[in-house]
Amino acid sequence: MAKTWYPMIDYTICTECGLCVAKCPHEVYDKAKAPSPVVRRPESCVDHCHGCGNRCPAGAITYVGEDTEWTPPNRAPQEEEDGACGCKDMEKMIVIDYLYLDLETCERCIGTDQVLDEVMMTLTPAISMVGYKVVYNKTEMKTAAIAEQYKFLSSPTIRVNGRDICQSVSENNCGCCSEISQTDVDCRVFEYDEKTYEIPPKEMLAKDILNMIFGSADVFCSCQEYVLPENLKEFFDGKNRSDCSCKGDCC
Ligand code: SF4
Ligand code: SF4
Repeated sequence: MAKTWYPMIDYTICTECGLCVAKCPHEVYDKAKAPSPVVRRPESCVDHCHGCGNRCPAGAITYVGEDTEWTPPNRAPQEEEDGACGCKDMEKMIVIDYLYLDLETCERCIGTDQVLDEVMMTLTPAISMVGYKVVYNKTEMKTAAIAEQYKFLSSPTIRVNGRDICQSVSENNCGCCSEISQTDVDCRVFEYDEKTYEIPPKEMLAKDILNMIFGSADVFCSCQEYVLPENLKEFFDGKNRSDCSCKGDCC
């Protein structure tokens, strides 16, 4: 069985009919963005479910972790290109991941989410035009276990093909996440043009994403010797206490 399973949308052929968003009862897709299919909670996707992919009239949905013979039933046949083994497809795929702590209360996560949506809406057609398949995922770091699975260092995080667009982690106190967890929590700030932003400007995100794809950006890799930062551990501990009916007496 695959350890990870969630849908990937080929936005170059998606017609934005919204059937996939309507079909999924597990809130994997962001209903607020319908009919555009934006995967918001990949961890809620049911392992080996092909429900939305079977329904998609454009054959635009495939799955991360696919290990069956399933193929999108409605996909138009494509002319075979070099790389029939599939390696060419992998090289030409750009995966943008937005990882965040909270999209209900945290102004920093919500604001960054909105700016990133705008940037992706503008960049995706251009990146697709030069032959890349663009996959845009949003994942809530709901628990410490999920944060560890994603090697999450700071909220929010934007990755291009697994690499953080920021060269390092800079943070300041986040009132919203401190309120959620009832403890002092720091969240990410973005440095651009000699200024510091809690919500990154559009031009910064556009430049950084394009630079990661086409340029020679230095990459900040969180792969090695990952340990959940103490700051995030305190956030999750505090959030668990706040969510528990005992409000901290039993846990
Ligand atoms: S595969 Fe199933 S559970 Fe996953 S997003 Fe599609 S309909 Fe929802
Ligand atoms: S069902 Fe297919 S074509 Fe319709 S919105 Fe979803 S991915 Fe796009």
